[in-house]
Amino acid sequence: MHEMRYEAPKTLAAAVSLLAGASGQARVLAGGTDLLIQMRGGRVDPELLVDIKGIPEMTSIVADNGVFRFGAAVPCMELVEHEAFAKAWPGVIDGANLIGSIQVRGRATAGGNLCNASPAADTVPALIAAGATVSVVGSNGRREVPVEDIATGPGKTSLVRGEIVASFLLPRRPPRSGDAYLRFIPRTEMDIAVVGAGINLTLDEAGVCSQARVCIGAVAERALLVREAAAALIGTKVDAEALQRMAAAVSAACRPIDDKRGTKEYRIKVAGVMARRAAQIALDRARRKN
Ligand SMILES: Cc1cc2nc3c(=O)[nH]c(=O)nc-3n(C[C@H](O)[C@H](O)[C@H](O)COP(=O)(O)OP(=O)(O)OC[C@H]3O[C@@H](n4cnc5c(N)ncnc54)[C@H](O)[C@@H]3O)c2cc1C
Repeated sequence: MHEMRYEAPKTLAAAVSLLAGASGQARVLAGGTDLLIQMRGGRVDPELLVDIKGIPEMTSIVADNGVFRFGAAVPCMELVEHEAFAKAWPGVIDGANLIGSIQVRGRATAGGNLCNASPAADTVPALIAAGATVSVVGSNGRREVPVEDIATGPGKTSLVRGEIVASFLLPRRPPRSGDAYLRFIPRTEMDIAVVGAGINLTLDEAGVCSQARVCIGAVAERALLVREAAAALIGTKVDAEALQRMAAAVSAACRPIDDKRGTKEYRIKVAGVMARRAAQIALDRARRKN
């Protein structure tokens, strides 16, 4: 056993320098809903915890001319309750609203969900479908990274030692855009996704899909952005045939594991079904936004 140091810096620069100066294992602490469980289970044993919840840049939601930036330490519940954000990105809210219970959502953050790098993380597919980027800060400065480039495998990220995800940036949405996230779980709540599907699409004035992004979770070692699935929607009116082709492209991209929640074959089939249903919801939302 060793002593653990807990620090709660007030600035991002102070957090970065604490992490850079750590000699042993150091961890960022956001909501702690993954990390504290891992520490109690003995899976991680950090010498330094850097709590980021007191850093203003990391705990605010800012809208600027249709562009949203929210801090990586914003609890999911605050996103859900932010009216303008929820109106702009209902699919991201679908994901944030599925994390645990109200109590868990009061602590859990999208930053922690992303950096914990579970392939089944519920906020991640919708953020990838949204085209979100993260601002990553470390002792070598700041870099902007697409969300899909952060997780590399279960529990693994592309962040280098001491780097912090500071905030998420969501681009301004064209008119007639809609997004949605759906997951399948064997129970009704408090379970891990067997499959998750996030879809974001935009229609032109004639109702033809002009842009789309399709991302699936829990069917590979990380969430997958499936460009072939998006291509099946673009240029169509998102009719039954296009949805069928999109679902087939989703199933073809899956490389899932077998576990107690579902077999490979089951996950591959359900992924197509969930993507089709999520696309239908995204389409309905886009049609309502003129
Ligand atoms: C009862 C319960 C139910 C749950 N249900 C779900 C669910 O339905 N769906 C789901 O996806 N998850 C679920 N989770 C898991 C967890 O709540 C989420 O993954 C949550 O989003 C993690 O966020 P956090 O802020 O608590 O992360 P923390 O536990 O604070 O951190 C998680 C990891 O990310 C690192 N980290 C955190 N923030 C940053 C940052 N800004 N920069 C760099 N590294 C960072 C930490 O060092 C740690 O390794 C559940 C957990 C519990 C306890």
